[in-house]
Amino acid sequence: MSRFLASRLASLEAYVPGEQPQDQPYIKLNTNESPFPPSPGVIKAISQTETSRLNLYSDPESKRLVEALAAHYGVGADNVFVSNGSDDILNFCFWGFCQDGAVFPEISYGFYEVFANLHGVPFEKLPMNPDFSIDPLAYHNAGRAVVLANPNAQTGLALSLSAIEGIVRSNPAHVVVVDEAYVDFGGESAVELTKRYDNLIVAMTFSKSRSLAGARLGFAIGPAELIADLKKLQYSTNPYNLNRLTQLAGIAALEDQDYYDKASQRIQATRHRVRQALLQLGFTCTDSRSNFVLASSPRIAGGVLYQKLKERGILVRHFSDPRIENYVRITIGTDAQMDALLEAVRALLP
Ligand code: PMP
Repeated sequence: MSRFLASRLASLEAYVPGEQPQDQPYIKLNTNESPFPPSPGVIKAISQTETSRLNLYSDPESKRLVEALAAHYGVGADNVFVSNGSDDILNFCFWGFCQDGAVFPEISYGFYEVFANLHGVPFEKLPMNPDFSIDPLAYHNAGRAVVLANPNAQTGLALSLSAIEGIVRSNPAHVVVVDEAYVDFGGESAVELTKRYDNLIVAMTFSKSRSLAGARLGFAIGPAELIADLKKLQYSTNPYNLNRLTQLAGIAALEDQDYYDKASQRIQATRHRVRQALLQLGFTCTDSRSNFVLASSPRIAGGVLYQKLKERGILVRHFSDPRIENYVRITIGTDAQMDALLEAVRALLP
């Protein structure tokens, strides 16, 4: 840290993203990316003439992309916000909507805490049940903003739409942010509720189910006033934060929705198979609605399993949080990748 950094930021602990090693090829099951490439339409769209226009700024309103998203989700263009990854959107939500503080589950996306600290938002992490399920009633009348990943990060467990609605309804004076990064792998989206409640923002991403993690494209759907607030914050930081190629990639991805639906179905089928195999090996494994599972074996510590898999060229994610330190989070890859993982796990179990 230099002596110039603002003192209010001195104690900020930055988010630690999952490893993206460049040294050797790994079977990458650590950051919940899609194992499938973007659809052919996306690759075609960004390789055509747009690169020759990179001398010009992108459309700050991302008008064509916003209209395509609005049509896809059955909402108005003024109900859609797009930004550089959904991390960016969550950052704006913590910055703009959490004046009275925020609550989120004790195990969830680690970035929530970082954003809260960054913006000086007081927060409370609410305890979960021993099986990692969330009691929706704990979020009723919270008296501050509520931030929930649904399906939840790290566990993959999902709350029902009626549970989400109960939370939104009981917190009329505060914004409820539902982070649906993983919703396309078996969750129920709260988008329809945004038409009836003025305090609900749903954040989504092209990084997972639409195979575009490297393009950085997130979006939010919500009531027009909340969307206008997000735009205000974006225009006060970086109005061109969606580049030309990403805007085109997003439009083309929406046109190829069949491709992504099939990819999601494959991932869900593989997830089921991997979970059954892990359960048979004596693992505890969450009944995930996401493109990952959280698994733990009484026969090998989470940190050891992570390390030994890495030595075999397979990357999974391990968290030091004491409640899940004995677990590893495994992204669901292709069938071949998961066969390699299961073979390695069998070989490593004592
Ligand atoms: N929310 C959750 C729950 C996530 O796991 C992630 C990915 N790490 C994100 C949001 C951010 O995704 P992105 O910025 O790639 O859209």
